[in-house]
Amino acid sequence: MAKEECLFCKIISGEIPAPPVYEDEQVVVIRDISPQAPHHFLVLPREHIVSALNLEERHDALVGHVFRVAARLAREQGFADSGFRIVNNCGRDGGQTVGHIHFHLLGGRSLEWPPG
Ligand code: AMP
Ligand code: ZN
Repeated sequence: MAKEECLFCKIISGEIPAPPVYEDEQVVVIRDISPQAPHHFLVLPREHIVSALNLEERHDALVGHVFRVAARLAREQGFADSGFRIVNNCGRDGGQTVGHIHFHLLGGRSLEWPPG
């Protein structure tokens, strides 16, 4: 999908309102509009990267940053100790519905494995 039509690019730019829970120069974190757990956040890299398949070596630090931001948020929100899940869905069979790479942070309940 073109960057101009991308839902998450519009959220990151403020064109579509979604109050950020956290933001820095690399990522914006919002609450998922359809939460699948008591705590469900989306970590959105500011750069329009379509999916995990489009990651390049220059993104290595960004992906590490995403995980550290998610873990810190889980601590701050008080569900780190009981456990949580960081999920990236990629492509049709992976369940990706928005073509801008994002990482779900889910917590606050026992999550099943394997996923459906
Ligand atoms: P995925 O299915 O992995 O591509 O995840 C996309 C996620 O974006 C889903 O969990 C949706 O509920 C969520 N979502 C879609 N539109 C919005 C929105 N306007 N604000 C926040 N989350 C959204
Ligand atoms: Zn985008």
